[in-house]
Amino acid sequence: MNQVIQYNFPTIIRYGYQVRSELPKAIKDMGFNRPLVVTDRELASLPMAEEIKNYLTNAGLYSKVFSGTYGNPLKSHANLGANEYRVHNADCIVAFGGGAPIDVAKCIAVLVSHKGDLFEYEDRAGAKPIEISQLPSIFSIPTTAGTGSEVGRSAVVSDDATKVKRIIFSPGLLPKMVFLDPELTLKLPASITASTGMDALTHLIEAYLSKGFQPLCDGIALEGIGIVSQSLKKCVEFAKANEYSPSEEHIEARGLMLNAATMGGVAFQKGLGACHSAAHALSTVCDMHHGLANGILLPYIMEFNMSTSKEKFKRMAEAAGLGSKSPKSFIQWLEDLKAEIGIPKYLSEANVQKSHIDDLVKIAIQDVCHPFNPRSVSEEDFREIFTKAIGE
Ligand SMILES: [Zn+2]
Repeated sequence: MNQVIQYNFPTIIRYGYQVRSELPKAIKDMGFNRPLVVTDRELASLPMAEEIKNYLTNAGLYSKVFSGTYGNPLKSHANLGANEYRVHNADCIVAFGGGAPIDVAKCIAVLVSHKGDLFEYEDRAGAKPIEISQLPSIFSIPTTAGTGSEVGRSAVVSDDATKVKRIIFSPGLLPKMVFLDPELTLKLPASITASTGMDALTHLIEAYLSKGFQPLCDGIALEGIGIVSQSLKKCVEFAKANEYSPSEEHIEARGLMLNAATMGGVAFQKGLGACHSAAHALSTVCDMHHGLANGILLPYIMEFNMSTSKEKFKRMAEAAGLGSKSPKSFIQWLEDLKAEIGIPKYLSEANVQKSHIDDLVKIAIQDVCHPFNPRSVSEEDFREIFTKAIGE
């Protein structure tokens, strides 16, 4: 071994039923008193957002809610939120919601502490540096079990005009504290439970298979795959059952999935792969939900990868508790899981057509994730993968 390799590990995680009620104390303990709560339009209309605001007010904190995010995060959402932060004279940020509001919260943190346009700080050579000491603190409370952005150091945000996704990265964007509260995910509909859960599973699988040496991430990824195999299907079944008062098993399954999603967020510090590049293209070209895109694509990408990572497929099959350890049986497990939780088999079932392929390939090949894929991916490979996955 003649290389020096650095790997990092993240943040304080508070996990438990109704643990979100600890938020005001955490904010006060760190010496802040004017949080900006960043959430999305839909969540802002639900009682759980009102409740967060009440917790803060009752604790004597001066909070303001910014709910100008919706769908996939856009630069304009971040600009509006930064304006709200300044008007409120905020001193910290609470990111409350799925991946989109959490990513927008991170972009707001950059904008309010740095001059110029957000994309001047994009994660690329020649970009302006992000000064970690200038960034406001972020507290994150995920309301879906999927993106893992609550423990991530980057935000994915799109250009409003082109819809091309850009990455803003800084170790300082890692939230200071994360509250994993299963109560918040109990009422997620089955379809969102399924698609966000498949995003988490894709992070775990792609991180494990990705190039590079990060044994911490590999261990976390394998354990996370095991947790998903035990809990995702249950969560979707509970969501469909729509119980009036949730059972212990429901709360436990939701809590496990929240942890698996967070583990995915940690594990993909190592890198992702071709599935995310193809999913990013589907969001850009077809405005498809990120988790749904990953969920549909995952078995097709694994089929592409299986010849190069046989030993790792065996380990993943073990982690998922499968009897047979062959790559084919792992892929079959993914296919079965998709069918059981209601993820379409083909992209054509989600309105993607062969006429989209040229644009999809163009975006996917430029994406920053696939260079970490265990098997290198050419334009022609992406074309074949999309063609198979469309399945018309
Ligand atoms: Zn993802």
